[in-house]
Amino acid sequence: MRAAVYEGEGRLVVRDVPDPVPAADEVMIEVEACGVCGSDVQIISVPPGHPSTPPVVIGHEFVGWVRATGSAVHDVAIGARVVVDPDPKCGACDPCRSGRPANCVNIVALGVYRDGALARYVTTPADSVYPISTDVPAELAALVEPLACVVNGTNRAAIRPGESAVVFGAGAIGCLFIAVLRASGAGRIVAVEPSAHRAPVARAVGADVVVTPEEWVAQRTELMPGGAEVVVDAVGSVLPQAIEAAGMGARVVMFGMNGNARPEVHQVEIVEKGLAILGSYISNFTFPAAIRLVESGRLNLAPMITATVPLEDAVAGIARIRSGEAVKIVIKP
Ligand SMILES: [Zn+2]
Ligand SMILES: [Zn+2]
Repeated sequence: MRAAVYEGEGRLVVRDVPDPVPAADEVMIEVEACGVCGSDVQIISVPPGHPSTPPVVIGHEFVGWVRATGSAVHDVAIGARVVVDPDPKCGACDPCRSGRPANCVNIVALGVYRDGALARYVTTPADSVYPISTDVPAELAALVEPLACVVNGTNRAAIRPGESAVVFGAGAIGCLFIAVLRASGAGRIVAVEPSAHRAPVARAVGADVVVTPEEWVAQRTELMPGGAEVVVDAVGSVLPQAIEAAGMGARVVMFGMNGNARPEVHQVEIVEKGLAILGSYISNFTFPAAIRLVESGRLNLAPMITATVPLEDAVAGIARIRSGEAVKIVIKP
């Protein structure tokens, strides 16, 4: 089969690889659609902003059809349409048994440490798949994985009706935060995003105002008097700006990941404002909620899909995410 393989040091190559074979407790899925994630961009950056073990087939935000099951799998039907938690939890380690599966010490992430879904077929543990309605367009079903992570982040912020929010970054994750915060009853939502291509999308999914980082610095006291009650860093390197944007008693959700970021922080502001700085990593029992949100059509997510492209165009598609021109590129292998 054809697959997009990360071969190390910035090299992503679409080439032939053997078809995968499911282990006894795994299923094999024919990939219908797979989104390109910011972490895919980080993996193929030089130096990498996200670790991985090349050579590896990347891609972890996907929907597909179960085509084969291992001998020990009895509760997943062949032919079922499923989305997948690409960070399979062991269920047995200390964090798993303490109710913090995101911190599972035995996660072997698909598309990072084992082969992922930018390919015709992918195998995954059977207990990481979730059925999804065949009525959901494939492009939107491929958003379930990042949405599950964003629902976790929104839960961390515990937003109350009418509260204001500032979201730094209006790529796919920022836009999903805007959509979920809007659906959760947020008041004013300001998005801060340098790319002019992304501003109309951020507005379409629920932002009241979208400004560039320069405009935010110049206008923030008028745009968000007193600071925001919820602040989201969907960039991975803007903690200082997030602290500055936060009002008294605000919750600051740190979501974006950039392993190279070492920002200088004005620490006393956290103390004086009584801020809660909340790391939010992957999903946390939030796949069912994300699937219900997508199936219900309650979020206006279609404007996020910039383009759907074939697998052979994966390298160009990822470049469009990196440039800031696209919000979400979906690949159909
Ligand atoms: Zn992702
Ligand atoms: Zn575990």
